[in-house]
Amino acid sequence: MNRISHWIDGKVVESTSGRSGTVWNPATGEAASTVDFASVAEVDQAVASAKAAFPAWRATNLSRRAEVMFRVRELVDANRKEIASLLSAEHGKVLSDALGEVARGLENIEFACGIPNLLKGGYSEQASTGLDVYSIKQPLGVVAGITPFNFPAMVPMWMFANALACGNTFVLKPSEKDPSSVMFVAELLKQAGLPDGCFNIVNGDKVAVDRLLEHPDIAAVSFVGSTPIAKYIYETGTRNGKRVQALGGAKNHMLVLPDADLDMAADAAVSAAYGSAGERCMAVSVVLAVDSVADALIDKISERIPNIKVGPASEAGNEMGPLITGEHRDKVSGYIDGAAGEGATLVVDGRDDVPADGFFLKPSLIDNLKPGMKAYDDEIFGPVLGVTRVASYREGVDLINANPYGNGTAIFTRDGGAARQFEFEIQVGMVGINVPVPVPVSYYSFGGWKASLFGDTHIYGPDGINFYTRTKVVTRRWPDPSTSTVDLGFPQNR
Ligand code: NAD
Repeated sequence: MNRISHWIDGKVVESTSGRSGTVWNPATGEAASTVDFASVAEVDQAVASAKAAFPAWRATNLSRRAEVMFRVRELVDANRKEIASLLSAEHGKVLSDALGEVARGLENIEFACGIPNLLKGGYSEQASTGLDVYSIKQPLGVVAGITPFNFPAMVPMWMFANALACGNTFVLKPSEKDPSSVMFVAELLKQAGLPDGCFNIVNGDKVAVDRLLEHPDIAAVSFVGSTPIAKYIYETGTRNGKRVQALGGAKNHMLVLPDADLDMAADAAVSAAYGSAGERCMAVSVVLAVDSVADALIDKISERIPNIKVGPASEAGNEMGPLITGEHRDKVSGYIDGAAGEGATLVVDGRDDVPADGFFLKPSLIDNLKPGMKAYDDEIFGPVLGVTRVASYREGVDLINANPYGNGTAIFTRDGGAARQFEFEIQVGMVGINVPVPVPVSYYSFGGWKASLFGDTHIYGPDGINFYTRTKVVTRRWPDPSTSTVDLGFPQNR
């Protein structure tokens, strides 16, 4: 069976820990590879390699660092299909979706190519007589990334592109469920001329994560994953003196007002709920339909569901693949049963007529879902869309603001005033106006509010540059005897 090991100091390093996991082919339900699980000593080896590479990499001039990022950009672009097929084989998402993931990851590498411009500081000439003040941004040192299964190539790119361009060196702990695509990207980074040791991958589980969280040579940790683990990472990492940004789970609501274009809203709800089998942190999970249009909207969504082609990524034309594991498929399926048991109405049951092999579910639609029901309260992370009927715009907004998560949300309306009010008062980090999956472009930053983010900075874009640097302010005077005196007072500028 194929074996996936670590990437340390510019080469593949096999683990001697004796521990490993299974990577499945979710479309067939068969074990595809084993993945090595790092020991504490192997994590230490990766951190030592990154630490040794840091002084030379941070001293590498900005033009040269930008040149390396441009070459990474060219190589990832040239290998889009290879990366997409690797991640699709282990994750299950269909090829068009996988190519979309690579494209959105690539945007972050393109952003990082502008690093000479991004690291410009401020300069104040003559802040006092003969004295200038300026600020510079410097890298932190060795930084770590811990990433989820659902975007195995893009989320690492959210992190390492800016981290490396800023002059840090990096240790990644990818999801143990689908690590192959980023192992391939590591080879591209080397081909692009990134010095050995600047980018390392340790595969593994909690053992590797915990070592990264306590390692004295790790300066900062970026995490993306579920909320309970995000909270744990934030609390443990910060307790150990590290800078941490930890992005968590979500429960994204889409509010449909009576004046919305209902066909557009139905297309959007179906795309955003069932794309990638609902395994997106920005998936729409609940449609809040204002009563007067709820029946019509549900009809339009139901009409569209049978047209969705569900099947393995290897067959062209499929639009939705399987779930990541059999265990996860069963958990999602449990929510469908549970909702019916709690009084919701099962309009479309995605458990009917599923492909025989693999971890498939078809799209499900549940009407009359209400707070307090498990399928409303929990992040399901599968192809299950709930509809909650609300009396008004106000009731919809109040439900969204009462939710513990605050990752993404959307409003569908033709009323500019209502949309503006929504954007003003909604307590969510990323908002779509007639856009169901409002993932920010790479020159803004991505991040939720409330239980969807622990830490102060969002990820990638300008916040990413701030996260991966610290600021130094220099107050400078050159010898000029005419301005030199002894003065024991506190420095003033007048
Ligand atoms: P997860 O939290 O199970 O795993 C994420 C990472 O944490 C993996 O690398 C995993 O190995 C590690 N991990 C898991 N359990 C751990 C433990 N007990 N101690 C230490 N490390 C541990 O998440 P997942 O199932 O891979 O991904 C799906 C989740 O990620 C969903 O909740 C989704 O909403 C969220 N997500 C959020 C965003 C975002 O930007 N907010 C983006 C993508 C995914």
